Amino acid sequence: MAAYPGYTAERRIHFGSIISTYRCNAKCNMCNIWKNPTRPSEEVGAETLARLPKMDAINLTGGETFLRADLDEIVTVLKSRAKRVVISSNGWFVDRVIRLFEKHGNTIGIRISIEGLSHANDGIRGTAGGFDNAIRILTTLYEMGIKDIGFGLTVQDANARDVKELYRLARMMNVEFATAALHNSFYFHKDDNRIDSVEQTLDALKELASDLMRSRRHKDWFRAYFNYGLMNYLQGRERLLPCRMAHDAFFLEPNGDVLPCNGMDRPMPLGNLTRQSWDEIWYSEQAESARAAVRNCKRQCWMMGSVGQEIKKHPLRPIEWVLKHKFLKQEICVPPRAECHPHGLFGLDSRTARETMRLINIRNSRAATVARQADKPA
Ligand code: SF4
Repeated sequence: MAAYPGYTAERRIHFGSIISTYRCNAKCNMCNIWKNPTRPSEEVGAETLARLPKMDAINLTGGETFLRADLDEIVTVLKSRAKRVVISSNGWFVDRVIRLFEKHGNTIGIRISIEGLSHANDGIRGTAGGFDNAIRILTTLYEMGIKDIGFGLTVQDANARDVKELYRLARMMNVEFATAALHNSFYFHKDDNRIDSVEQTLDALKELASDLMRSRRHKDWFRAYFNYGLMNYLQGRERLLPCRMAHDAFFLEPNGDVLPCNGMDRPMPLGNLTRQSWDEIWYSEQAESARAAVRNCKRQCWMMGSVGQEIKKHPLRPIEWVLKHKFLKQEICVPPRAECHPHGLFGLDSRTARETMRLINIRNSRAATVARQADKPA
């Protein structure tokens, strides 16, 4: 439901992803944020974050969030803005994580990226010993009685065969297990991420989705649906559910720019929180243009940030899928593959992902020109 006539924004904000910094200690193969760090002086602090609206959930991310020296103040402010605050981390800074949780306890949560078993994780991240540190953090928090903990990975060639073991580990520890797939975008400073052995990755996700369907927890059945959506994304197909970023969810850049998301070709700021109030940003013409771009977005990404609340808001399709695969025992099938991938993940006719992205961009801009010409009065 739109809040003000003439604006498509919703007043209730479901989700905000706060990018605390673009500094990072890791050097992941699928992300070049570490090559493009922010300076601490450019990063907004607790004072600016206090101007955020109230919302359902906040994900505090980076870069590596635990590089922020003022993280405790930031977390304190964000807790006053959202019912749930979850920090994403690469799990390198053991002592810093434990100190923060000693202070904030069960009022916050954490998701650690573990990009495979030790060989794959440390290879992908470029941090020898990173897997050990991440496990140290998880087991310590678990012992401390922290409830909202979990880990997850971005599925790619180098770690597809570890998905099963990581899921089993999460189940044994009774913690959440999250999955994502490679994306190319301005946020990651990447346009050459690709998956060469798509079949292996699809098999891993299919097995995971089937395992989740065997669970007794309702939540896991919808996680299976999310993983089916990842398979669909990897096959280059249209999203299973609409994207409503910038309508009821947003990203905040370290410099205070409010963005629809982190998946577009280029950042499309709605406004800037250091110079404007939230209402000035959210109910502006600039924000409306960004929302129109979201509604016409061809990127078709499938990330928890833009999917989680859509599953809750449009439950019929996910429920129908769950009923078919849980109770009617239909096999989970890999969706057919599209001709090309909106993120260039499988290249075209053995072209590189970079070349594919270039062709997709040309095709999209031609389509936009044709649409503009069709709009002109005769
Ligand atoms: S589909 Fe488009 S608007 Fe939606 S999250 Fe992806 S890039 Fe952003």
